[in-house]
Amino acid sequence: MSKNPSRAFIALGSNLENPLSQIRQAIEELNQLPGSRLIGKSSLYKSAPVGRLDQPDFINAVVLIETCLAPHDLLKALLDIERCHGRIREFLNAPRTLDLDILLYDDLECCDEKLTLPHPRMSQRAFVLKPLMEIAPDCHIPGHGSIAPLLAACNGQQLEQIRPEI
Ligand code: AMP
Repeated sequence: MSKNPSRAFIALGSNLENPLSQIRQAIEELNQLPGSRLIGKSSLYKSAPVGRLDQPDFINAVVLIETCLAPHDLLKALLDIERCHGRIREFLNAPRTLDLDILLYDDLECCDEKLTLPHPRMSQRAFVLKPLMEIAPDCHIPGHGSIAPLLAACNGQQLEQIRPEI
């Protein structure tokens, strides 16, 4: 554990076994990670699948946590949560009960066999950029710059904000 808390943005996605409840539960579990607390949460969004099209739509969200976990410890904790949600890795872009990605960890840039930061595909995905923009409009993505132009370049991607029930 590092001493001062860091800020990490985490993307959530699910398209199997009641995706809305998978995402809501996972957000609660992120809030309960050791030395961590939730400090920001986007709306939920519905997105069309990317890569492999013959699968259900996804539910997506982005959260911001403050955490004392070091980046690789945070990744391990996320993989543990995915496993608890019954995540099976069958093939690339397969449907999944829960996907958790670290988008940003402070301004850290890193690339090793386990972890790449910023997340390598985040700047091309509307289902990441739109919820990220909602909770951190001034966010700067190291190596890519501000969100708005990146999001504008994703304008063909289908994404729908899910309005909260009143
Ligand atoms: P997937 O769940 O299919 O998106 O891929 C998960 C794998 O990607 C994990 O086992 C990680 O080792 C690797 N990975 C690399 N960078 C990241 C990141 N920024 N966030 C989450 N997983 C990452």
